[in-house]
Amino acid sequence: MRVFQCAVMGSGGVGKSAITVRFINGSYLEWYDPTNRKQFSVDAQPCLLEILDTAGIDQYLTLNDMFIRESEGFILVFSLCQRDTFEEIIRTYDAIQRIKLPEGNQRVPIVIVGNKSDLVDEREVDSTEGEKLALEWQCSYYETSARISTNITAVFENIVRQLRRN
Ligand code: GDP
Ligand code: MG
Repeated sequence: MRVFQCAVMGSGGVGKSAITVRFINGSYLEWYDPTNRKQFSVDAQPCLLEILDTAGIDQYLTLNDMFIRESEGFILVFSLCQRDTFEEIIRTYDAIQRIKLPEGNQRVPIVIVGNKSDLVDEREVDSTEGEKLALEWQCSYYETSARISTNITAVFENIVRQLRRN
């Protein structure tokens, strides 16, 4: 069985842990196995995905660089209700390219995630903005809600499909 490593990155409070817990545990904001791994099948093929939830330390750039070096795929999360978190994933994307491209990677597997889609009245970032960024980066864009469990599995399936292609 193939094993893949991916990192969940983004500003504090956007829902990185909530998304990881929802995927691994199927629950909202409850304790989960700190090893953050899940065996599941994508397109009828099993795989083991190790998920690095970059909890609370994403402000420290040197650590960010270390996470990037250690991961093969990246889930870049922002909050649909907080525009500055959208700008932040652009900076993280630049760091990923800076670190990964010289290592000989042509294409780095990335999924853009706009989380908290359930808070419809508080939205600050439009769907078209996320879609435009995905087009530019040639990756996928999903709007998720860890709270009501929207599109969570789709995000992780997408990253696995990209990782298999690499
Ligand atoms: P992290 O710092 O990126 O790991 O963010 P957390 O997972 O700790 O979530 C930060 C806050 O956002 C918590 O209060 C969560 O309850 C809330 N949150 C996370 N995901 C969602 C979501 O999909 N919808 C709503 N309404 N709140 C969310
Ligand atoms: Mg967290």
